[in-house]
Amino acid sequence: MTTAFFSHPDCRKHDMGTGHPECPARLDAIEDHLIASGLADVVVRHDDAPLATALDLEHAHERRYLLELDEVLNEAAQAERLVAVDPDTAACPQTRQAVLRAAGIAVAATDLVIDGKAENAFCAVRPPGHHATRAAAMGFCFCNNVAIAARHALDVRGLERVAIVDFDVHHGNGTEDIVANDERIFMVSIFQDKLYPFTGGVPLGENMINVPVPAYTKGDEIREIVEHQWLPALERFKPEMIFVSAGFDAHRDDDLGRLGLVEADYEWITLRLVDVANRHAKGRIVSCLEGGYNLRALARSVGAHVRALAGA
Ligand SMILES: [Zn+2]
Repeated sequence: MTTAFFSHPDCRKHDMGTGHPECPARLDAIEDHLIASGLADVVVRHDDAPLATALDLEHAHERRYLLELDEVLNEAAQAERLVAVDPDTAACPQTRQAVLRAAGIAVAATDLVIDGKAENAFCAVRPPGHHATRAAAMGFCFCNNVAIAARHALDVRGLERVAIVDFDVHHGNGTEDIVANDERIFMVSIFQDKLYPFTGGVPLGENMINVPVPAYTKGDEIREIVEHQWLPALERFKPEMIFVSAGFDAHRDDDLGRLGLVEADYEWITLRLVDVANRHAKGRIVSCLEGGYNLRALARSVGAHVRALAGA
């Protein structure tokens, strides 16, 4: 079993200012842990993914939005300052490079896995993507890396059914907006109720299972939900590939949410997804980093997730 690990220095260059939780140090923490834990020797590194093209982005976003985003990214680059797109999200001069690299990595990882050159892949990318809707940047996100990759698998690579799994503490409203009622995609998610972006209580389409859980829900209850709600639906759908919006901010040590997952829970969830992928999808999983803001918890949780992907 080969697990690819994708990242790129461009993803560090997006910087929303001192004290912002979605910071370049997140990737440093992951890289350091990879080396310290020995996982760097288990995965196959790819630091050569190309930038996403306009066509890639258009698989998930409206052309009009992409033109607006282009203007914001240009403004940030030319003015050499932060340009706010919402109260929590801003573009810096290097954000364009990071946004296009993150989406490009997700697409390249998808191609690598579909081509059988790796069984699965983890993409250590920023900015994250799952709050970016068809027509708006929000919640630290500009382009929806996972939705772009999933549509690439369907529209370009000819797969017929793919699943998207989102275990970030926040509801993946952007992904839901993009994939709702696309019958080729089945989405399952779990997220903290009454937390940003305050959506997801009523799913936008029949092709998704949203499970809001109250603050302070712990891992054993979340495992029950995965076992009894996610897995039977995924078994019925028989995805040919699984995409993961891998946010690690549901960790009990993460201050942006109030859920109680620990590393062992991320490992358990990942192993269940590997089981589904092995049964229906030739093992194919592409997982992209979303949230996760306590650097130590993030690094250890990514380690547990990648170790499970690698069967190590
Ligand atoms: Zn999050």
